Amino acid sequence: MDISTNIQFLKGVGEKRAKLLGRLGISTVGDLLRYYPREYTDWSRTTSIAAAPFNEPCCIRATVDHKPVGAKVSKAMTIYKTVATDGESLLNITIFNSKYTAESLEAGEEYLFYGKVGGNFHRREMSSPLIEKASSGLRIHPIYSLTAGINSKYIEKLIRQVFSSGNEHFTDPLPQSLRDKLCLMEINKAIRELHIPSNEDMLNEARRRIIFEELFIFQLGLMKLKGNRKETTPVVVGQDYTQEFQRLLPFEMTGAQKRAVRESVGQMTSQVTMNRLLQGDVGSGKTAVAAALIYTIVKNGYQCAFMAPTEILAQQHYHTCCKFFEKTNIRVELLTGSVTAAQKRAIKQRLKDGEADLIIGTHALIQDDVEFRSLGLVITDEQHRFGVKHRAALSKKGSNPHTLVMSATPIPRTLALMLYGDLDVSVLDELPPGRQPIETYYVTGKLRTRAFGYVRKHLDEGRQGYIVCPLVEEGDEDIASAQSYAENLSKGFFSGYEVGLLHGKLKPKQKEDVMSRFVSGEIKLLVATTVIEVGVDVPNAVIMVIENAERFGLSQLHQLRGRIGRGRYKSTCILISDAKTATAKKRMEIMTKTTDGFKIADEDLKMRGPGDFFGARQHGLPNMKMASLTDSALLTEAHRFAREILTDDPLLQKAENKNLNQAIYDLFNSEYIMN
Ligand code: ADP
Ligand code: MG
Repeated sequence: MDISTNIQFLKGVGEKRAKLLGRLGISTVGDLLRYYPREYTDWSRTTSIAAAPFNEPCCIRATVDHKPVGAKVSKAMTIYKTVATDGESLLNITIFNSKYTAESLEAGEEYLFYGKVGGNFHRREMSSPLIEKASSGLRIHPIYSLTAGINSKYIEKLIRQVFSSGNEHFTDPLPQSLRDKLCLMEINKAIRELHIPSNEDMLNEARRRIIFEELFIFQLGLMKLKGNRKETTPVVVGQDYTQEFQRLLPFEMTGAQKRAVRESVGQMTSQVTMNRLLQGDVGSGKTAVAAALIYTIVKNGYQCAFMAPTEILAQQHYHTCCKFFEKTNIRVELLTGSVTAAQKRAIKQRLKDGEADLIIGTHALIQDDVEFRSLGLVITDEQHRFGVKHRAALSKKGSNPHTLVMSATPIPRTLALMLYGDLDVSVLDELPPGRQPIETYYVTGKLRTRAFGYVRKHLDEGRQGYIVCPLVEEGDEDIASAQSYAENLSKGFFSGYEVGLLHGKLKPKQKEDVMSRFVSGEIKLLVATTVIEVGVDVPNAVIMVIENAERFGLSQLHQLRGRIGRGRYKSTCILISDAKTATAKKRMEIMTKTTDGFKIADEDLKMRGPGDFFGARQHGLPNMKMASLTDSALLTEAHRFAREILTDDPLLQKAENKNLNQAIYDLFNSEYIMN
């Protein structure tokens, strides 16, 4: 038996069970072994009945006094009761409806009961405990994720069967020298410990080993990809036009902006394809950096595609670029879902003929019939909204064009390593001058009127504001409630002020209309759902109230809040939340204490876990079974050793590194599509 053996060769696996196991992704012995427990119950330590904690899982060793007696309490429910003792105290055992379990208990036999103890000081009881014969020994039990028809014990049995047939199933991808250096378990031993832990320490060591392996292979893979992608490109920038571009700008670029432009242009002049991430907190001025690169690439005779995740954002970039390039002969086009069919055809024709230099748009840019004459640079804004595939699809429209992806989501360093390990990074760590930090307050609904009064005061001073309304989903009912919310405000507290409403269900034209009226200053107060989250830039808007603030993730709140504090006026954000839980309160407090997006992102990651960070599987990470992005110490270590090994053996050709290549292939093959 080896890891490629079909699962059906195991005893106890017929066609039907094989099918069920298939649903869990298990079709070979190797799959089975790599099907790690979801969690464990600790039966390795027992407690006496008297000392058992209330309402916490524990394991009690006790002798059954008499065979459980059943009492039918309703048609569908029989309750079995018995008593067990550890020699000192009594434990009342209740079993619901399971005749089989009840009848398997014998008077005078010793068992292990696992569960939560309830009752009171005088009377202790356990309902529906997990039960094993005491003779089966004290140990940690694995718990597996299951599908109907398969239980944890069944999987455990299969795994024991595999291990009893010999131990060497996997060749270890990690070289011996590395394992020695980091005191990592050998792979087969680790896998065995995961399924059949000897004790807690060994289990922890096994977990450490497996997590390290996953992170390490992942890092190696990304680094190799990055190395491989140092491919040459026909898009060669002969001259740097940054100075000329600077003269078109109404402001002087910040040091960080200049550095980012220099790093990018430097790379584009070198015949090696640029793959760069531009990271900068909200308001740091990423658009100007993008425009600088666009200017240089267009002046060198190439076209540029600039993709944004929403229509509003695409329009905003369009207007910004039109203004920047007003006095030049650069031809800018906008392609979004709301452009008419005839216009679209014309735009596409101009692109194809090379009569358009810069195309700005949404996903619409990816469509097959969008063709370029000489695409030199692809820019995607708010990159995490797009899958890796989208980025790639756009690039394919040229021949190895340079790419710049911009992200305003301050990504924790650990996560950035994972997501963008294949990219070079420029960071805008400096805000344009004259910005005043946003002040943030957290209040309960009781102070809503006062908050609104504060908003009105700002409107009276000629400023504008946002109210983010209480809305969870973008469903129809919620839209109705957003509408009535906005109406109440405009007829009530804000009567006499121009109030606009922006939500996701508006037609693009309507959205554009509302936005442009807000930008022009006609609309004073914009009531909005989270569609304003990304990138919208109105410097005169200085106050924001966020209703039900607890419903948002910290990073999302940070993004929302980033819509204000963009001009020379002092800005204020008021979070309204009646949430009672300590966590929610803590989250609100974090927001009031810092405006550092990276700090917030770190907290967010800690509190919510990586799964939620960008929403489910938008990020294109390969599927890691055990590692999580919060394992930052191991991740850093993995990164360091991956770099070390590649420096020593770039192609992983040395005998001891050979297995690494296969492991990389296995990990990246199925999930992570880079090109
Ligand atoms: P983000 O990085 O969030 O996309 P934007 O590119 O929208 O930020 O820029 C935010 C605002 O800052 C814009 O109004 C822009 O014109 C302004 N801005 C950008 N760079 C500078 C600068 N160097 N000096 C002054 N204002 C700037
Ligand atoms: Mg932006």
